[in-house]
Amino acid sequence: MRILVVEDEKRIADFLSRGLESGGYAVDVANTGGSAAEMVHATEYDLIILDLGLPDMDGLEVLKKIRNRKVSPPVLILSARDAVDDRVKGLEGGADDYLVKPFAFVELLARVRVLLRRGQPLPERLQVADLSLDCIRRKVTRGGTNIELAPKEFSILEYLMRNRGRPLSRTMIVEHVWDMDYDGLTNIVDVYIRHLRSKIDDRFPEKMIHTVRGIGYMLETSDRHTDRDANS
Ligand code: CA
Repeated sequence: MRILVVEDEKRIADFLSRGLESGGYAVDVANTGGSAAEMVHATEYDLIILDLGLPDMDGLEVLKKIRNRKVSPPVLILSARDAVDDRVKGLEGGADDYLVKPFAFVELLARVRVLLRRGQPLPERLQVADLSLDCIRRKVTRGGTNIELAPKEFSILEYLMRNRGRPLSRTMIVEHVWDMDYDGLTNIVDVYIRHLRSKIDDRFPEKMIHTVRGIGYMLETSDRHTDRDANS
């Protein structure tokens, strides 16, 4: 997987490429819009991370050039502008996702993984330890026992299971499950997670839904979760 990082600020570009490389991705950096356009022309990238504030042209201009190509990879916009207007323009211009600086690297990585997985066929059934979710029949069981979930609860659980072991922010969960911008209403996620925990985790000694401080939530079996904490 090859990622192009378009970012003029060296500190951020270095931070991104180091982080992504240690995540196993090949990374190229372009520090102007012009060089980005050339690189996209010369190399096939699986994902482009695009800063909007570039010295030679607006990032939205670069986005247009990328989208004009026949094969055009997913684009994640990175910007210090948090105005709703810029966000809308970016998404209308064909960006696939949008992250406002400053951001937690773990959130960027989670979004990168989601974007890279798009277009690949999704499994019909998800299984994590004794928790099983049938995406077609929309049935959930844990330890062989049926669990009744409301539609939103089901969607959140499905999203958590598809991203097993990856922390998902409240914003990501809101945007994924409600399909709209629920800015300021991310508390709703906590409410739904509480419902989910009471149905999925409360009766079982092994808890699967973990709170990731400063980020949001993650689904993982506790042994793996603890292992990773111990190693990090
Ligand atoms: Ca910049």
